[in-house]
Formats: sequence, C-alpha cells, structure tokens
Amino acid sequence: MESAFTQCFPSEFICSICKDNFTDPVTMSCGHRFCTPCLCLLWEDVQTAPCCPVCKAVSPKMDFKSTILAKEHVLPTRGSVVCQLPSSAKQLCSIHQVIKLYFCQTDKSLLCLFCSHSPEHATHEHYPVKQVAEHYRENLLMQMKSIWKKKKENQRNIKKVTNIFRVWEGFVNLRMVMIGAEYPKVCQYLQEEKQKHLEILAIEGKIVFQRLRRNVARMVHMGKLLRRIYEELKELCLKADVDMLQDVGDTMKRSQLMQLYIPQPMDPQLSTWAITGMLERLNNFRVYVTLDHKIRNCHVALTEDLRRLQCSPDHQDMPRNPASSENTPSWGAQTFTTGKHYWEVNVGNSRTWIIGLCKESWTSRNDMLLNSEDIFLLLCVSVEDHFSLFSTFPLLPHYIQRPQGWIGVFLDYECGIISFINVARSSLICNFLSRSFSFPLRPFIWCGPK
Ligand SMILES: [Zn+2]
Ligand SMILES: [Zn+2]
Ligand SMILES: [Zn+2]
Ligand SMILES: [Zn+2]
Repeated sequence: MESAFTQCFPSEFICSICKDNFTDPVTMSCGHRFCTPCLCLLWEDVQTAPCCPVCKAVSPKMDFKSTILAKEHVLPTRGSVVCQLPSSAKQLCSIHQVIKLYFCQTDKSLLCLFCSHSPEHATHEHYPVKQVAEHYRENLLMQMKSIWKKKKENQRNIKKVTNIFRVWEGFVNLRMVMIGAEYPKVCQYLQEEKQKHLEILAIEGKIVFQRLRRNVARMVHMGKLLRRIYEELKELCLKADVDMLQDVGDTMKRSQLMQLYIPQPMDPQLSTWAITGMLERLNNFRVYVTLDHKIRNCHVALTEDLRRLQCSPDHQDMPRNPASSENTPSWGAQTFTTGKHYWEVNVGNSRTWIIGLCKESWTSRNDMLLNSEDIFLLLCVSVEDHFSLFSTFPLLPHYIQRPQGWIGVFLDYECGIISFINVARSSLICNFLSRSFSFPLRPFIWCGPK
C-alpha cells in the first residue's frame, strides 16, 4: 500500500516489502534495508536459512546490522509539515480555526495553542504533537518486540504440544500393553482388577487426547491474534502523528491485555495405580546389587538431545569436588547372564537420574550412545521445574508422574523383560518386553544433583 508519505520520499527511505516508510529499519549483510517487522513477518515460518527478498542472498538468521542512522533520518521527517497532509477536519480547532499542535497528556486529546491555555487545561501537561508522537512510536516498537517474543514462545509451545498430541494414542496403547503384561495370567481374581485398570487408562487417555487437541487449537488461535495485533501496531507506526495519537491508547491497551491471556502448553500425565501383589512377586527374586569400585570413576553429562551420556575421566591428581562425588555413575559389581533378578535403587528426590542395565562392554566406553540396542535405561530429566521420564532403547517418553524414592528394577533374562517399578506406589513405571538378551547385562546407576 502506498501512503501519502511514500510519494514524498526518495526510494532509499522506502521498504521494498511493505512499500512504505521504514519502521525500525535494519540493514542485512548484503546491504539491503528493510523494516524489522516486515522481515519478522516474511520469515515467520521459514525453516531454512532466510534470504534477502531482493537479491536472494542467504542471511544468517536475524543477524542484522542495526541502523540507528536510518532511524534518525526517517523518524523526524515523518511528522514534517510538508508530508503530513491534514488527515481530517479534526486537526483544525473548531473554535480558533488553527491547527492543533499540542497533545494533552491528561485528556489524551489534541489542542491548539489557545485551547491549551484555557482554564479547563490550565493544570494539565501539554507537549508538542511531534515530541509526543516520537515517544509513542518508541513505545509501539517496544510493544511490537514484546508481542513478537510472545508469538515465538507460543509457536514453540504449539510445536511441543503437537508432538505430544501425535504420539499420545500410541503411548496410551503401549502403556496398556505394559500394564496388561504385569498381571500374571494364572491369577483369576486379578483379572477383574486388570480389566478395570485398563478401562480407566483408556478413558483417561481419551480425555487427555481431547484436552491436548483443545490446547493446540487455543494456541494456534492465539498465534493468529498475536500476528494481527503485531500488524496493527506496525500500521499504527506508519500513520500520521495526529492519527496515530488518536488510536494508540486503544491498540496498546488491547495488545497489553492480550499478552496476559497467552495459553500455556499442557503437560499431560496419566495416573498410575497400584498393581496388587506385584511387589510381593518381584521380591521373590530379590538380589542385592553392590557397586563395583574398580570400574573407573568419571563425571557424567547428558547431552540435550538425550542421545549421549558423556563420561569424562576423573583425574586422580585433580582436587576432588566433594559435591561431585555423588554425581559419579556406578556400575553394579555383578553381571547377569541368566535368571530372574529384582533390586531397588533409592533416587531420593534427585532432579535427574538414570538407572537400568547395559551390555557389559559399555563400562569401558567414555560415551554411551543412548540409542543403542543394548542399553535399557530409565531416565528422569529435569529442565527448569519440569520433569520428563524416558526409557531407552528406543528413546520413549513416559507421561506419568515423576517417581521419587525407591525404584525397583526387575530383569527376566530368558523372557527378555526389564521392568521399572515405583516402589512407594507399588505401580509400574514402564517395562521392556520380549527382548532377547545374548550378552551379559550389568546394572547402571547415576543420580544427579538434588
Ligand atoms: Zn517494510
Ligand atoms: Zn539483498
Ligand atoms: Zn483551539
Ligand atoms: Zn489538557
């Protein structure tokens, strides 16, 4: 859209995207200049490296050279009398028949010089329109930045919840198979409990599924509203001073209000129920896992994508940090090559921990690749105040309450089963079913900081 402005300005002051005067201009590495908001909107959904809309040169994402200089050129001229065509009769004082050049902060209205001296306005603060407009334009740009930040955050949340939504039904089905497998086939009297357990699970799964769908829909809707208000704020920046000052209060208020109602992403969790007699059965296979202190000490770090567990050797000559000794991973002293074994590990209220079994040969490696077929671990990972449970291999999220305290580990070597139990609740966390083990398995324990 070409405004009255653009006809008065040479092309170096015109953004080639919106064909209007620059708003918050930036110069890209190729030398072309655009409005920051125009680039934000243009590149909103671009997955690959964005390129300049004029010369197609690939730009490092949002690596703009700030053009304070251009801003100084552009903003002061915006309100100049030559270009500022009177937008309507409202610019002329109907009483004194002169142009209103003052803005009353109290009434948020435009006044002519004579009106500003009237008794009605005597106690108010009045500023030249040009000065007030510049101040409001700065505020508008700040408001736009804040809206864009919220929009980005909203987009990340949509992606996160959509990912859960996609795998949710599969997770509930898998959990039903896992739970079903924990009920022994011979116990008839538990059939009723099993049936009830699976029914409730299915119902809860469906309810959460609907809530996830609504959560995504609400966030998508909010994304559209945020984009709309962002465009509205940009258009407001381009209006002539008097028109902008008339509308700025209302638009700013709506924009601020909108930011208070951003929907938060859901963090779904299925309830867990006790399985009657499970712990008693497992206790028949109780072993006491001792730790092997001959296997070298090292410090553990989990990569962010959860694909690697990196162990850096603990140098004997380096001063030992007392806090870090508890963060050292431990291997069990015994390996298992046959039979059924059950043991318990206390993870206390550690924020991050990993327990399970691995193929013997991983004890000598510096980095454990968690997507390897011979690693059977349960991971509790915390990011800020949020906890996630995963099992591997393959890497699977488990959307249930975070287990704390004692965690039971059960291995049935011949049947290829490994189960993790929440001891306090006597409930199943997850299990690996029908694997075939053809190598010695060694227990692994790592409790991170509390
Ligand atoms: Zn533009
Ligand atoms: Zn370019
Ligand atoms: Zn007047
Ligand atoms: Zn006043």
